[in-house]
Amino acid sequence: MEQLRCQGIGCTAALTEDRNPEGSCRYHASLPTLTRLRCCMRWKCRDLLVKEYDEFVSIPPCARRWHSADPTP
Ligand SMILES: [Zn+2]
Ligand SMILES: [Zn+2]
Repeated sequence: MEQLRCQGIGCTAALTEDRNPEGSCRYHASLPTLTRLRCCMRWKCRDLLVKEYDEFVSIPPCARRWHSADPTP
């Protein structure tokens, strides 16, 4: 059976009914963007430019909600 996953941007948690208190999902309020030079990435919601993917995904999400199959709150 396919496991549903939270669609919050930056969140990859599995969706379960019983472990989903409000605030458990930490996500980004907007999609990531590539800069024109394509050398850097940033989250639209954060004013941070990074070059490495690992660094990019480790930037802490800036918003909270509960996990949901809907990508936007
Ligand atoms: Zn963010
Ligand atoms: Zn989530």
